[in-house]
Amino acid sequence: MENMDPLRVGDIEIYWLTGGDFKLDGGTMFGAVPKVLWQKRYPVDSGNCIQMRNDPLLVRTPDALIVIDTGLGNKLTEKQQRIYQVSSSRDIPAQLGQLGISREDVDYVILTHGDFDHAGGIEMINPAGARELTFPRATHVFQSTEWQDLSHPGDRAKATYLEENFDLLRHRGRLHLVEGDEEIRPGIVVRHTGGHTRGHQVVEMTSRGETALHLGDLCPTHAHINPLWVMAYDNFPLEVIERKKEYLTAYLARGSWFTLYHDPFHRAVKIDTAYQITASWPEPDVGQDRGLVAGQGRG
Ligand SMILES: [Zn+2]
Repeated sequence: MENMDPLRVGDIEIYWLTGGDFKLDGGTMFGAVPKVLWQKRYPVDSGNCIQMRNDPLLVRTPDALIVIDTGLGNKLTEKQQRIYQVSSSRDIPAQLGQLGISREDVDYVILTHGDFDHAGGIEMINPAGARELTFPRATHVFQSTEWQDLSHPGDRAKATYLEENFDLLRHRGRLHLVEGDEEIRPGIVVRHTGGHTRGHQVVEMTSRGETALHLGDLCPTHAHINPLWVMAYDNFPLEVIERKKEYLTAYLARGSWFTLYHDPFHRAVKIDTAYQITASWPEPDVGQDRGLVAGQGRG
């Protein structure tokens, strides 16, 4: 976690933890968008891969500590780490320690959906080599349709819904399943969107008239703000386009921040009605430390 300053949304503070970087094929991340277009907006390496973060949000409201999505976790095999070219630290307890927080202090973990890059940190391997819940006291919030699907994954989903991320939760009962939209704590609302997965949800954070919206994988990076730029990983791409357009339009009218989970350049952005970025947090050069400059290819 290189930046300890929070994004402030009224009385809410949002920090980003480091959940592990990985690389994915650029073509899969931009679906039907031709490379000649997307490579102007996102650097690509000689293997056609793009660098991405998997960084959980730590949200401190006046009365609760909430983690949104949990990073890659520390359970990936050597082979998985090689395939996804995983790099950077994923030691969430140590990062919380830098903020004076212990993992027992976290009240809620909200999962946008169950893919391993978001759910990988629900369980961790402890120093004794055993698996345990990373946030043992937290209530974990999923859409109930997402929980149904990850419990019975189809052939396509088997590679991303990994049972070792869910089995402890299944048996310890620290699970809260939502049908549709629900206020989890004052100012923190989850909303069912579907699209990326059938049970995908987004998270609205509101305080004193200010708002941040976490779109999860409806908008993984700043280059996906254009509603038509959707991923080959999306299960229901037409739904992603519709929901993303709806949410961007409604929330940009409120001057909302849009927080990003996978983006190495921007943690959060504000945009105008032409989907152009008008504000970015943190302001200068995030990503420079990793040799990345938005809009400038390396390969
Ligand atoms: Zn993702």
